[in-house]
Amino acid sequence: MLKGKVAIVTGGTMGIGKGIADKLAEHGAKVVVCARKGEKTKHYFVECDVSSFNDAQRMAQQVVKKFKRIDILVNNAGIYPFVNLKDMTEQQWDQVINVNLKGVFNCTKAVIPFMMKKKYGKIVSTASIAGVSVGFPNLVHYSASKAGIMGFTRAAALDLAPYKINVNAVAPGAILTPGTKGMDKDTISHLIQAIPEKRMGKPVDIAETVAFLASDEASYITGQTIVVDGGYTDV
Ligand code: NAP
Repeated sequence: MLKGKVAIVTGGTMGIGKGIADKLAEHGAKVVVCARKGEKTKHYFVECDVSSFNDAQRMAQQVVKKFKRIDILVNNAGIYPFVNLKDMTEQQWDQVINVNLKGVFNCTKAVIPFMMKKKYGKIVSTASIAGVSVGFPNLVHYSASKAGIMGFTRAAALDLAPYKINVNAVAPGAILTPGTKGMDKDTISHLIQAIPEKRMGKPVDIAETVAFLASDEASYITGQTIVVDGGYTDV
């Protein structure tokens, strides 16, 4: 499905991003993973803090130097530090917006010149149900960033359509990852009770949807956010 394509997955060293990176590779893509720390990854690794415009530019240039092209960008890097609005500092707000939302802008800006030149590209970002239709306590910065990704996705799809670049997002529900493992037990069991299947999702549950959106089979889909949450927000 993705044979010969070059794909970048931000935040691809663990959790959902690792699941996506592995799935894209399974479908035949050459995968580049970026994050702030190398961790162990079997994919080509580029160090990059997505909140830095310059880092994102350097990362895209390094990928093109190595692989000659960029076909797919998965904007997955994200953070979700829990803090109540009444205690939230300006710095905490800025950090989440800078990584989760500005990071999507930074990486998209860095890759689109190469995609526009080839008149081909697939951009898929990881939003969240927290930005679609439900609020979670202690996450106003996060919810705002993820709702922002949906708006970005709709508008960028229009700007990039003339260049045959599809822009979509996936909105996961509660997925078991290194990031969510640290959540307190009460929150986790509360979440599980609200999921019809009575289990948290796995990174692979998100990865196959991303692989589809990154493929030519999804070329008539753009500007959309697809919810993958085991029915959490339907009940
Ligand atoms: P995770 O397990 O904490 O992994 C996060 C990944 O992002 C790591 O590879 C991390 O590597 C990287 N990262 C963090 N900050 C970065 C930065 N500034 N620049 C580059 N890379 C950075 O997270 P996850 O649970 O898999 O979540 C992944 C994405 O899915 C996030 O966007 C999250 O908001 C979204 N999501 C998750 C869930 C869930 O239930 N897990 C639900 C909905 C949406 P380094 O720390 O080395 O940089």
